[in-house]
Amino acid sequence: RKRVTKVSTGSKQFDAILGGGFQTMSISEVFGEFRCGKTQLSHTMSVVAQLPRDMGGAEGKVAYIDTEGTFRPERIAQIAERFGVDPETAQENITYARAVNSEHQMELLNKIAEFFVGNEYRLLIIDSIMALFRVDFVGRGELNERQQKLNQFLSKLTHVAEEFNIAVLMTNQVQSDPSASALFASADGRKPVGGHILAHASATRILLRKGRNEERVAKIQDSPDMPEKEATYIITNGGIND
Ligand code: ADP
Ligand code: MG
Repeated sequence: RKRVTKVSTGSKQFDAILGGGFQTMSISEVFGEFRCGKTQLSHTMSVVAQLPRDMGGAEGKVAYIDTEGTFRPERIAQIAERFGVDPETAQENITYARAVNSEHQMELLNKIAEFFVGNEYRLLIIDSIMALFRVDFVGRGELNERQQKLNQFLSKLTHVAEEFNIAVLMTNQVQSDPSASALFASADGRKPVGGHILAHASATRILLRKGRNEERVAKIQDSPDMPEKEATYIITNGGIND
């Protein structure tokens, strides 16, 4: 029987606004500017998902689709050490794939979905969802086709999340409108890319931004069951932490 499980972020405060962590059987999205910690969160959760439940884990394997080439196995090893697990085992439990274009991203998802059959995967990372779609479909004239292809990808994600009891975490970029950001530099004004189709697919949406000093801030923008609260977290050698 399938039971919804939550996977910890590595930060107690961040977990608290999520009601324990990111849920299986649904799609969550974290979006924000460059360097706010989207990839570090992806790495941290790739280790945490493997941990026992009393440590915030889901005792499962992890699949990781990297579209920006920013996955670092050494970071996995460092984060594993923080949680007292064998670095090599932690690395081996992550099925890693680097996508080079949006079509390849779809192919990899289909391949990875085959691994989910008969295996206990609990987390699927897409870091990031839109990068390759934005490169492959540039002009306004290509927007319809892009959204159609994106929709196919997201439908498949929804299907695997529910079918295999997996937490899907996708990272996303924000719209860069230089004139707007110069005048209104409020981080809360930043919008994720991907339009309505992506907004509709993400059950939970979290804005990440830089706070004071080394602090980072996570804010719930959309959630089926949690209020729009904020939490702070930091990035350490051992991953996301309080
Ligand atoms: P994003 O994916 O949102 O662009 P990242 O997840 O790559 O951002 O986060 C980049 C930030 O993480 C940088 O500020 C960097 O200094 C910090 N960072 C990366 N590795 C470590 C580490 N080992 N210890 C502390 N901070 C780190
Ligand atoms: Mg990144």
